[in-house]
Formats: sequence, C-alpha cells, structure tokens
Amino acid sequence: MSEYYNVADVFGENVFNDTVMKERLPKKVYQKLHKTIEDGTELDLETADMIAHEMKEWAIEQGATHYTHWFQPLTGVTAEKHDSFITAPDAEGKVLMSFSGKELIKGEPDASSFPSGGLRATCEARGYTAWDCTSYAFVRHDAAGATLCIPTAFCSYTGEALDQKTPLLRSMQAVSEQSLRLLRLFGNTTSKKVMPSVGAEQEYFLVDRAKYLKRKDLIYTGRTLFGSMPAKGQEMDDHYFGSIRPRIAAFMKDVNKELWKLGVPAKTQHNEVAPAQHEIAPIYETCNLAADHNHLVMEVLKKKANEHGLQCLLHEKPFAGVNGSGKHNNWSLTTDAGINLLDPGDTPHDNLQFLLVLTCIMKAVDNHADLLRESASDVGNDHRLGANEAPPAIISMFLGNQLEDVIEQLVSTGTATRSLEGEVLKTGVDVLPDLMKDATDRNRTSPFAFTGNKFEFRMVGSQDSISQPNVVLNTIVAEAFKDACDILESADDFDKALHDLIKKQATEHQRIIFNGDGYTDAWVEEAARRGLPNIPSMVEAIGALTTDKSIELFEKFNVFTGAELQSRVEILYENYAKEINIEARAMINISSKTLIPAVIKYITSLANSVNAVKTAGGCDCSVQSDLLKESSALLAQTKAALAKLEKVTDAGLVMAEGKERAEYYKDVVKAAMTELRAPIDKLEIIVDKTMWPMPSYGDLLYEV
Ligand code: ADP
Ligand code: MG
Repeated sequence: MSEYYNVADVFGENVFNDTVMKERLPKKVYQKLHKTIEDGTELDLETADMIAHEMKEWAIEQGATHYTHWFQPLTGVTAEKHDSFITAPDAEGKVLMSFSGKELIKGEPDASSFPSGGLRATCEARGYTAWDCTSYAFVRHDAAGATLCIPTAFCSYTGEALDQKTPLLRSMQAVSEQSLRLLRLFGNTTSKKVMPSVGAEQEYFLVDRAKYLKRKDLIYTGRTLFGSMPAKGQEMDDHYFGSIRPRIAAFMKDVNKELWKLGVPAKTQHNEVAPAQHEIAPIYETCNLAADHNHLVMEVLKKKANEHGLQCLLHEKPFAGVNGSGKHNNWSLTTDAGINLLDPGDTPHDNLQFLLVLTCIMKAVDNHADLLRESASDVGNDHRLGANEAPPAIISMFLGNQLEDVIEQLVSTGTATRSLEGEVLKTGVDVLPDLMKDATDRNRTSPFAFTGNKFEFRMVGSQDSISQPNVVLNTIVAEAFKDACDILESADDFDKALHDLIKKQATEHQRIIFNGDGYTDAWVEEAARRGLPNIPSMVEAIGALTTDKSIELFEKFNVFTGAELQSRVEILYENYAKEINIEARAMINISSKTLIPAVIKYITSLANSVNAVKTAGGCDCSVQSDLLKESSALLAQTKAALAKLEKVTDAGLVMAEGKERAEYYKDVVKAAMTELRAPIDKLEIIVDKTMWPMPSYGDLLYEV
C-alpha cells in the first residue's frame, strides 16, 4: 500500500456512520433510526432487525467475524465480550452468519464481576448493555481479527447505572432541557436540542518497550515506584513543542491513520513539557461521542506504541520529579443549529444571554466545586493535583481580562457598559503581518479556564474517563439554568429581572474567579480566606458525591439516584485501597527479589575489593571502605523499611472495605512506601550501573 493517502478517503472507513447507513438502509428504516437518534424515541424490534442485518453485512465485508457490546464499567477501562456471528451448525454441518435486532440493542454480559458497589448482590448476576445509537458502531482490527463494536450503556437488572455512559447520557438530557428553556427566554423558538461539545486533549508518555519490560513497577502499576532523577530533568524546557523525533513521528503517523479510520477527528499533536511526553487532541464532538472516542484514543495509543516497540504510559505520574500527564476537557454548549452558548461575541458586555449563561456557570462551579474536584480524582491524579504541579487542587475560574472587567462592572455598578478590546500586536518586524491580539491572555495554572468560547477543565487525570467530569459539568450547569429560568419565566418585568439576576449571580459568585498564579502559596491562603474548598486528595474528595446537596442535585435531574451515588462512593474507596495495595505489593516484591539482591552483590564486590587491597598491602582502600559503609547502611535502612511496609500492608488487607480502609492506605501505607523508596533511590546513585537491575529514569526518558 502506498505511503500517501487522502485523509478524507480513509476517515470513518471503519465506522457504520450516517453516510453508510443512508446508503445501505431502506429509506424508512434510516428515517426511523434518525428519529430515534434525534428525539430519543424507542427503536421497534422490526427496525432494529433490519439495521442489525445491514450492520452485520457491512461488518463482514470489513472482515469481522465477531461482534461485541463495547461498554464502560466502573473499572475505569472499557469492557467487551465477543460473540461470533455464527449460528448453530445445521444438519449438514453448515453455519450461517446472523445478527438480530435484539442482539444489537440489548446484551446481557454476566455483571457479577464488575464493580457495583453493593447495588447488586454477587448472586444476582444480571446486567444489561443497551445500544447508544447516538454513538456509531465501528469495526476494530487487531490480533483477534476484526470485531464489530457496538457502543453501549451498562445497567443492572433493576435499571441502575453500572457504567460511565448511562449517567452521561442522562446529564446531557438534563442540560439540554434547561438550556432550551433559557434559549426560549431570549426568543429562540427553533432549537430542539442543546448538546455539550467536548474536546479532550490527551497527554501521554512513550518509553522504549524493551526497557519497559524490565520495569516490573511500570508493568504492574503504570508508574515507577523507584528511580532517582536523571542529571537532566525538564528544566531547560527544550522538549515542549520541540521537533518530533523520527521514531515518535512514525508512531504518531500510524496513530492518526488508525484514529481517522475509526472516525476520531485527531487534529493536533506535539511534544509536551516533560521529556518523552506528548499530546494528542481531536476536534471537539458531542459529549458522549467525545467520551467514547477518548477511550479509543487511549486504546490506539497503547496498541500502536507496541507495534513500534514502544510503550505508551497513560498514568498521571509515571515519573516522580517530572511533570505528570492530564487531560484537558474543553466544554461548551451547542444548539442543533450549531450556535455556541458560550460565545461572547465581540462585545460581551451587551450580550445579555451570554452574561446570564456565564454567571450561571460561575454559580454552578462555585456551589459545586467539591463535585468537580471529585470528578477529576483518581489514584494517579493524587500525585498531581495539589502536589506542586499543574493544576492546583483548589477549583477557581479564569475569565481573562475582558470578562473579568465586565464582571467587575456588573458587581460595582450593576451594569456593564464596555468591553476591553484586543489590540494590534506589534512585532517590530515589517515583513510580519499585524496580528490582532486576543483581548485576553491565557493562564496555564487555572483549573477551569475560559478560552474564548469554551471552558477548559484542566484537572482531569490522563488515564481517567472524561465521563464523570462531564456528568458533573452538565448537571451543575443544568441546575443553575433551571434556577434562573424558574425566576425569569415568572418575572413580570423580564428585562429588570434579567438585569438583577445577572448582577446577583456575578456578585454572589465572584469569589470563584481568580486570574493570578494558581501555583503560589499566596493563592492557597487567599482561597482559604474566600472560603473555597481545598481538597487535597481523592480519599477526601469522594464524600462530595453523597452530601445532601449532591444527592438533591443528581436526583432532581435523574442523573443518579441516591443509591447509585452511594454505590459509586463504595467503589471509589475500594478501588483506592486496592490500587495502593497493588503498588505496595509491587514495591515489596521488587525490592526483596530484585533490588536488595543486586545491592548485596554490589556490597560483596566492594568488600572483596577492600579485602584484596588490604591483602596486597600498602594501598589506599578508603573509597571502597566508605562506599561499603554507606551502601551497607542504606541497605539496612531498606530492609527495615521493607519490613515495615510488609507489616502495614498485611494489616490493611484484613480491614473492612470502606472509607477507613482507604484512609489507612493513604496515610499509613503510602507513607511506608515513601520510606522504602528513599534509601533505594539513594542506592541507585551509588551502585555500579551495570549491576542495577532496572533501566534508570535517564534510560527511560532520554533513550526512546
Ligand atoms: P486551545 O488552544 O485553547 O487549547 P485548541 O484549539 O487547541 O484550543 O483546542 C483544544 C481542544 O478544544 C480541541 O479538542 C478543540 O477541538 C476543542 N474545542 C475547540 N472549540 C471548542 C468548543 N466550542 N467546545 C468544546 N471544545 C472545543
Ligand atoms: Mg488547550
């Protein structure tokens, strides 16, 4: 096959998308499906049968032998169970390929091994997957051959959500309904739907796979549990946007092609801040599609990396002391006619609809900062949020000079009468064109930043699903819109009520706005004065899901029931303890089986050298003696720390599941892990490199 191809030709090649459906489905069936997609009506079985048949024929043409309901249980990764299309052999031993409407719209994987947080007893295994027909089916090619993947939601026998997609779809419905109410107030009579648009920028690391395979810590936990800093870190800032090396470029080329075939609009790629760190961003799409596609991006990155002899690390903090990875969740609201509710226009001060939307979002974020913080927590992200790295754990909002000025006018005088304008940017070079400067600069330290016509939520972890942050965003904004519409719809004097409400919201929630440097201690103090929550870790954040305020919020919009929230809380505590336990066990294993023996070998060689020199007589063996003393002392420290870690981990294992156990792992087990790591990292610097049994940070980060 030729190296060169037209992207437009391959884009969506493996997707059963609208064009394919239009082409292949009888007109009536196609129209019915469209109605289902647009109005959310139910698909009748007869129509489903016809769609399933065509989908199967199309998939078989693509080489597919199996189909799977592709879903997102609460394990954090996607799940699938493959069934082949074959029917039972007939009397002549022949099989047919079949796929029914029922098989398309509903699946029944055994749910008992997926986390349910007590929503279902283990013996009640039933769980259902249901086709999300707003997300296209696609064929995936891999070592298993070709498989038709059907994006589905996953629920229990009694209808409770056991996945990420179900609440996401519910929250999209909620924000759509309330946005429409708001639009109607401003004279929009035509829009039928308002959907959140989401673009997720994905950061990741690439390391050499052969080296990765020598790091059991990376294999078991996705991050290095040991490792001293290399001579060079990221202090030179020479990697960020640096030119992409050929091996990485070849990888990116393949990633893009595969994603385009899958209909993922991969757009931007560049090197990130840390050595060996990169980023990929697709063009934004409707929220649920963006979430599905982000899972595909992560899958394809891993798969293609392996094909190139590389390993993709999606963990939030693969290397201590080096910047970690996140996912920027760009979010806005778009009508079915493509109008963006977050577009301020040129003169935001007199765009009242925009000011209402903006101040509603200020209110939503201020009232539910704890929920947003929770939505971005996972075990890996604890190494980033609030730990001297972007972004801080305190939720604040960056509006930029122009909007901040408008808000200030609203708060101080009740009305905004002017908008700051962008100026011409003077480069001082005649041959360069004059550029219009944006009215606002960027702020990289803000966790929630307005960037022109969207908000960028920068806290999300790199390996986490973007579903939960969007569930929260959609729902809290739906609530703020609802409150506003309740007031405005019944106002006698709409203009006055609108004016008063905008001013009130701007004034009451101005405290959430912060345009300064979010990394400083001064901000931590200032935020405390403002009464903004500063939630340091995942374990402290989880409780935000089941406060009275949150239960009321989510139940009001049918996004989660109280029981579903409770179950999620239990799963999160459980997962936290489990993940730290795996890390602790990996540390114990690696240090006792690999690192301590290597150090002993080194020490033995030192001791032999000291003896040999002494026997020879007359020579100075002080260097060997000093090293011997130093490394023996560190070895003793290591052994003591190892014994302690073993003890506290054993004790953690027998604790009952729940919050207390998670806290124990956070406070006691993690501390013991740090204690064990310290002497080992020092030893790594002392011990002969040829005797150290694992590739170093330098090997991993600079020799890709
Ligand atoms: P920035 O430079 O502000 O980071 P980019 O243009 O690089 O913005 O876009 C970053 C991500 O934001 C991309 O995925 C892009 O498609 C997405 N994006 C752009 N506009 C919107 C929007 N209105 N709503 C949601 N996402 C958007
Ligand atoms: Mg960005």
